[in-house]
Amino acid sequence: MPGRILVVDDVATNRLILKAKLAAAYYDVLEADCGQAAFDVARAEQPDVILLDIKMPDMDGYQVCEMLKGCSETSHIPVVMVTASSAPKERIRGLSVGADDFLVKPINDLALFARVRNLLRVKMMFDELKLRDSTSRELGLSDFLENAEEIDSEPHTVMLAPAAKAQGETWKAQISKMSNVEVIGVCAEREALNMARFEQPDAIIVHQRLMEDGDSLRLISALRARPETRQAVMIYVVSDGAIETAAKALDLGTSDYVLEPFEPEELTIRLRTQLRRKRYSDQLRSNVRDGLKMAVIDPLTGLYNRRYATQHMQKIVERAQDSGNSFAVMMMDLDKFKTINDTEGHDAGDMVLKEFSHRIQENVRGVDLVARMGGEEFLVVMPDASDLVAKHVSERLRRAVECKPFVTTSGVELKITVSIGVAIGQPSDDDPNVLIKQADTALYAAKKNGRNLVSFHQAA
Ligand code: GH3
Ligand code: MG
Ligand code: MG
Repeated sequence: MPGRILVVDDVATNRLILKAKLAAAYYDVLEADCGQAAFDVARAEQPDVILLDIKMPDMDGYQVCEMLKGCSETSHIPVVMVTASSAPKERIRGLSVGADDFLVKPINDLALFARVRNLLRVKMMFDELKLRDSTSRELGLSDFLENAEEIDSEPHTVMLAPAAKAQGETWKAQISKMSNVEVIGVCAEREALNMARFEQPDAIIVHQRLMEDGDSLRLISALRARPETRQAVMIYVVSDGAIETAAKALDLGTSDYVLEPFEPEELTIRLRTQLRRKRYSDQLRSNVRDGLKMAVIDPLTGLYNRRYATQHMQKIVERAQDSGNSFAVMMMDLDKFKTINDTEGHDAGDMVLKEFSHRIQENVRGVDLVARMGGEEFLVVMPDASDLVAKHVSERLRRAVECKPFVTTSGVELKITVSIGVAIGQPSDDDPNVLIKQADTALYAAKKNGRNLVSFHQAA
């Protein structure tokens, strides 16, 4: 995983040591020798992670961190503070100005790389989501304002997996002081797995040693692997002081860790930070999903649009090449649809299009692609379908339209029919457009022969 890391330290030797370590692991290293320089470089170069010394002559690391977190151009860049002492008070001070973690001098390589990897992973996910979100926004597809206060006012649930019931109660008492955060359980390993599945907590705090001889690293990797808890915040509490264990937990996907002993406040600050991050990424993720959806869905019928259909057909063509099975391409066009609009009005026309879409969907399989190609023209593509199956289904579709009148909101019954043109794609076919064209030609023949008909493309 490549990444750019900004090393901030007023002592040249310290920068050199860190730079050598990081460069050896193929990271791209930037340097700054004072607080102001750190801020300027961060803004101009947009590093992925900042390693920040605390004691510096112009301003201390806390001030620099506050500046970085307060500026919209740099607030998203993770900051790791490099301290001379591991005093809990200093950690709390750092966390409250927005630092993401601490490394104690002399820096342990394992701790350094595990943390850098973890922060890079988080940052890259954010960058990617942000990029996609901005594309959606440029297309005018979604609108979302980030708002920390709003995020904090949403309720969150937390599950605890402590080393002992009493410890769980202590954590619970501390966490209950947070507004809008509810502890839903104090569990051993098996219980935690069950509860996580049904309750889907927003956050899970896991102690290194679990009750009933559970295995905490096993619990973490199981939770990360499951869809229900894949996005949950996980905080790991390390009791043996071994940075190796914390590093392992980070690599398995925990969001953060705390070393025992810690001030109770440290746990809640870390939890709050991680919950905010989660809300933000959840929001981005759903924006991206909505944006993508709107870019490929026809709003009137809820069917896929032409853009999606042509792209997806390419995949069907490729799959047929692999499987050796043929597939069916059907173009459908409502008969004399213009007269519906002319006599019953545009709204009645829209209703017919919706009802028609509904009837198609009821008569095809889930794997079949149904799309509105434009106006009153629709496409159905059935993977793994012989021409016999295609005959059967296309005839069924034609009848599903003819068999029952379409009723307008004012109660008028309309007799609607559809014409269908079918082409059979072979594993040797590689251009979806050719098949669409063939189906179109067959459709034209069906119209010419009197409408309300299915017509097959005749291979030359
Ligand atoms: P044919 O049997 O030859 O297909 O005749 P037709 O009248 O169905 O064909 P034509 O292509 O001449 O007319 C299609 C009409 O579909 C014209 C257009 O106003 C109408 N139409 C296209 N999109 C929509 C829509 O979203 N809503 C409604 N209500 N009408 C639409
Ligand atoms: Mg028509
Ligand atoms: Mg038409």
